[in-house]
Amino acid sequence: LDISFEIKDKILEIVKGDITLRNTDAIVNAANKYLQHGGGVALAIVRRGGDIIQAESNMIIRNQGPIPTGKAVYTSAGNLKSKYVIHVVGPDYNEYAPDAATEFLKMSINSCFDLALKLRLKSISVPAISSGIYGFPKDRCADILIQETFKHLEKRESLKRVEFVLFDEITADIFANTAKKYF
Ligand code: ADP
Repeated sequence: LDISFEIKDKILEIVKGDITLRNTDAIVNAANKYLQHGGGVALAIVRRGGDIIQAESNMIIRNQGPIPTGKAVYTSAGNLKSKYVIHVVGPDYNEYAPDAATEFLKMSINSCFDLALKLRLKSISVPAISSGIYGFPKDRCADILIQETFKHLEKRESLKRVEFVLFDEITADIFANTAKKYF
């Protein structure tokens, strides 16, 4: 399952697969605020990308302390094909009221887009942020991430290509069906 949607000269793609194998300019990591990449997509990223990603993350924490929810930082990508890993701290769904969690998830994806523009990236791969260990309902997660992506791609100054890379078929189907609503 791979579906693409166009808006102006930009592309949104829904891909079922492993985000650590993509070759976009950056992949997004669903990180925790201490950037300890010990589980989920974060562990997959450091396993394939190498120790440099955890080492650079530790340096960031040493310099600036824990990363607030909704914020993104970046490191190099080690052995991955991408140039950068953008580490974003999505909301833990169990820690916030639903409306607050929604706002933090919006903030999270937009922090990734802001960094992408700052780094002059053309393409980015994004996982289903907060929908794993952090328990965000997948259909609402998809709705928020895709709606914000649509708004971003409509802008003149934006990424050329955003792909959502979903690990399992169920999540990929949810994202594909959601994208059909907006694009
Ligand atoms: P969070 O703590 O933000 O919920 P997780 O890493 O637990 O982060 O999960 C985020 C999403 O990433 C989940 O939907 C999970 O299935 C998915 N995921 C896990 N490994 C990978 C991978 N290698 N590529 C893409 N997505 C992945």
